[in-house]
Amino acid sequence: MKNSAIPVVDELKSTTWQEELGQAVSSVHELYEILGLDCTKIHTPKSFGLKVPRAFVRKMKQGDLNDPLLLQVLPDTQETIAMAGYSNDPLLEHEHNPIKGLLHKYKSRVLITTTGACAVHCRYCFRQHFDYQANMPTAAQMGEIGSYIAACDDIDEVIFSGGDPLSLSHRRLALWFEMINALPNIKTIRIHTRLPVVLPSRVDDALLTLLKNSPKNIVMVLHINHANEIDTVLQDKCQALKQAGITLLNQTVLLKSVNDDVDTLCKLSHALFGVGVLPYYLHVLDKVQGAAHFDVPIARVVEIYWQMLERLSGYLVPKLVQELPNKPYKTPVNLYRE
Ligand SMILES: *Cc1c(COP(=O)(O)O)cnc(C)c1O
Ligand code: SF4
Repeated sequence: MKNSAIPVVDELKSTTWQEELGQAVSSVHELYEILGLDCTKIHTPKSFGLKVPRAFVRKMKQGDLNDPLLLQVLPDTQETIAMAGYSNDPLLEHEHNPIKGLLHKYKSRVLITTTGACAVHCRYCFRQHFDYQANMPTAAQMGEIGSYIAACDDIDEVIFSGGDPLSLSHRRLALWFEMINALPNIKTIRIHTRLPVVLPSRVDDALLTLLKNSPKNIVMVLHINHANEIDTVLQDKCQALKQAGITLLNQTVLLKSVNDDVDTLCKLSHALFGVGVLPYYLHVLDKVQGAAHFDVPIARVVEIYWQMLERLSGYLVPKLVQELPNKPYKTPVNLYRE
C-alpha cells in the first residue's frame, strides 16, 4: 500500500510573493471568467499585455464591466488608435539619461529605473513604451550610478522607480540599498511602488527589515487611484510599514471613468488617510500613445480640483501637477483660467 495520502512538507509551505506574481492573470478570457463577465470585447495587444495579480482581481466587483479597478488593467481596442499629440516618449526622458537606468531631471534628486518589470500592467502607463530592457542597469552600471550620485553634491535623495522596484528580488533590492546607504550625501531613499496595493504579500519581513535597517529616511510613494483598492490587507501592510518608521504617501492619476469626479477623489483621500497614507500628487494624464481614452479635459480637471479644495482638509488635497518635458519640477496646473 502506498502512503499517498500523507502530505509532504513542501505542500504545507505558504505561497511566496514570487509564486503569487507568477500566477498573475494574463489572459483576458480568464479574467472575464473570474469576474463572471461575458467575453464581448476582447483586445489582445502585441506588447504590454494583460497582467494583473489575483490579489488585485479580488478587489474588483463581480459582473461589472465598468469596475474602476478593472478599467485600469483591461486592454481596450481604443489603445490602437493613433492620436495626434500623443507620443511614445511624451516626457522626452531620453534627454535626461546620463547613465543607463539613471534619470537626472530635477536638481536635488535622481530617479533610478531599477527594473522594467511591474506586477501589474496599467493601461494608461506613460512608461509602457519605454525600452526597459535597454535601460535596466547592469552590475557595472550600478557602480557607475553610485559614483555619479556620490560626485554630485546637489543630490540628496534617490528614488527607486521602474517599472516597479519592489518587483526586484530581495537580493537585488538589497544590493541597491547597500550601495545608496553608503553614500554620505544622500539623506532619503524613496520607493515608488504599486506592489503593496496589487501584491501585498511583497511587504514581507525581509523587506521590512531591509527598510528598517537603512540609515536613511525612507519614503514610500504608493500609487492608488480608487478607494476600492484599499482594504484591510493593505491596511495591515501600511501599519507594518509605518511601524518600521516609513513615511507613506500616495500618487494618483486622474483617469476618465475611473476617478474623474469629486466624490470618488474625496473618498479616496479619506480612505488613504484611514490607512495612514497622505495624498501627495494628483497627476494629469501624460499624453502617451494608447492612453487617450483615459484623458480628462483640462477644464474638467480644474473644475474637479476646485471642488476638492472646497470639501477636503488641506492635508487631504493632493497637489495637482503635470509632468512637462524639460521642466525641472512637476508643474502645478494653472487653476485660474478665463
Ligand atoms: C517625478 C520625478 C521625480 C520626483 O519628483 P518629486 O516632485 O520630488 O516627487 C524625480 N525625477 C523624475 C525624473 C521624476 O519624473
Ligand atoms: S505599476 Fe506604475 S510603472 Fe508599472 S505599469 Fe502601473 S503605472 Fe506603469
